[in-house]
Amino acid sequence: MDTPLEVLRRVFGYDSFRPGQQEIIETVVAGGDALVLMPTGGGKSLCYQIPALVRRGVGVVISPLIALMQDQVDALNALGVRAGFLNSTQEPDERRRVEAAYVAGELDLLYLAPERLRVDSTVRLLEKGEVALFAIDEAHCVSSWGHDFRPDYLMLSVLRERWPGVPRIALTATATPDTHAEISHRLGLDQARHFVASFDRPNIHYRIAAKNDPKKQLLEFLRTEHPDDAGIVYCLSRSSAEKIAEYLSDHGIAAVPYHAGLDAPTRALHQSRFLREDGLVVVATIAFGMGIDKPDVRFVAHVDLPKSVEGYYQETGRAGRDGQPATAWMAYGLQDVVQHRRLAMEGDDTHRRRQALHLDAMLALCETVTCRRVMLLDYFGQADAQPCGNCDTCQQPPDAWDGTVAAQKILSTVLRLDRERRQKFGVGQIVDILLGKKTAKVEQFSHDQLTVFGVGTELTAPEWQGVARQLLAQGLLSVEPAYGALVLTEASADVLRGQHEVRLRRDLATKPARAAKSKSQPVSMPAEAAPVFERLRSWRGATAKEQGVPAYVIFHDATLREIATRLPASLAELGTISGVGDNKLAKYGEGVLETLAAE
Ligand code: ADP
Ligand code: ZN
Repeated sequence: MDTPLEVLRRVFGYDSFRPGQQEIIETVVAGGDALVLMPTGGGKSLCYQIPALVRRGVGVVISPLIALMQDQVDALNALGVRAGFLNSTQEPDERRRVEAAYVAGELDLLYLAPERLRVDSTVRLLEKGEVALFAIDEAHCVSSWGHDFRPDYLMLSVLRERWPGVPRIALTATATPDTHAEISHRLGLDQARHFVASFDRPNIHYRIAAKNDPKKQLLEFLRTEHPDDAGIVYCLSRSSAEKIAEYLSDHGIAAVPYHAGLDAPTRALHQSRFLREDGLVVVATIAFGMGIDKPDVRFVAHVDLPKSVEGYYQETGRAGRDGQPATAWMAYGLQDVVQHRRLAMEGDDTHRRRQALHLDAMLALCETVTCRRVMLLDYFGQADAQPCGNCDTCQQPPDAWDGTVAAQKILSTVLRLDRERRQKFGVGQIVDILLGKKTAKVEQFSHDQLTVFGVGTELTAPEWQGVARQLLAQGLLSVEPAYGALVLTEASADVLRGQHEVRLRRDLATKPARAAKSKSQPVSMPAEAAPVFERLRSWRGATAKEQGVPAYVIFHDATLREIATRLPASLAELGTISGVGDNKLAKYGEGVLETLAAE
């Protein structure tokens, strides 16, 4: 029998395990249960795929991501691994074929949607064959907070009762301690070894810019840093997804929208184009991307504030799974805070408290003057991280300044307007008053008579908005839910009395960051390799099209780069390149060598 390391080299074409993989694999190969917390892109799949290949029987993988099963199976087949899936999208003939292969022991891996296990016939089918292990992917779906698949996942406790001797491995990229405990409890994994990998994604550059004209800022970001790259843009509403996709397309960037308002075939088409084409941008609401394991997503951009740090980290984690440099970029401004503070006031008490906690953590990340990565990792329970050098605050540390007086000016203006009671005013009016602008609305309400009129000329309008945003973020100011007017909070009084010093960060003029520098630098490519890489890319595109699979199923970018740099002259030499296993060498080796030879 092959050892795990031999399987890694022969089948997957990789030299060595990533941190954590070997121990996890050995635990499962030996028949033990495992609970694996690893960030997106950390390499979770190998943790069950290799044990399934080493142990007798078929590895059964429970995954809710039905739309991706075909691609997962294609990717395994390209490696020469015998894989199949059973889900509701299948023709009966196809299903019977997979079932027969399972029973005959002719599969290495079988992917199942969780709801299949509710059906008795599925359980009976599984009992007719030999199960090597159960892998429970996206295991955070058992947790109580807002997961569609939860009822099906709760059923998975039957696995232990029916198959007491078969090892189970649960995997997730969601790492808060609560979720961790709940997975362990709900799935009855009390005998399991727990593996918590570092959640750091060193190849992702984090950047949060002050928002003024988000569409234009986004375009500038894409043009200067990610021309022709594949990426995801997240926004909150369907209509902005549509508008931004159209705006990008009008400006020469291939982009499509993705949101719940599109019909299913259109959504499926846009998703499959994203997976298959090089360099497509998807502009999506949060509905997009769960489980998308396209490795070469080069950026994730947020033009609206995400609701929680978990959401932000999960979404940004979809960038750079291949370990090559990637950017997580966000534009964030005053209106985001106003809107989210209002949203967070909806619903019952528990819901509101939870929303407020999530929002405060997200805002603290946006407003921090220290390393973003340190804050993120700390949030996920990793307290010992060092400043990373690969985020905007590390690269251009923002100034902190004493904003107490500025805060008092805003708060006393709010206080005076609040006394009028008749009418509610937003930030715009407050800034006009501070700057002493006699607008029609200022004159209409005689606001030029207020003692605060014109007392704030030391700052510009955008600077005042920045101060208001930070006061909102720090809870020193709030919004009234009905009209979004600014109102004081309990904490405001201390500031007005001079008993609370207000520290603010000076917003930086947005300029493109320096090229991302990180410890896990990509295989850097000498200039003369670039045209070869492009030739290999078009060969890969044509081959993928011919075979009806995504391009990355054939070879990843990193593998093509290494080939373009090292220019292997023989199959044997090609076989030593990372990502070229036996099966791919046999299938694509000649094609690669011919492409290299053709000038
Ligand atoms: P996850 O499911 O944790 O998000 P994947 O299992 O999809 O991550 O792995 C991410 C990428 O890393 C994949 O492209 C995979 O082929 C690659 N990978 C995994 N393990 C290794 C390894 N030991 N050496 C090189 N590449 C690896
Ligand atoms: Zn940093």
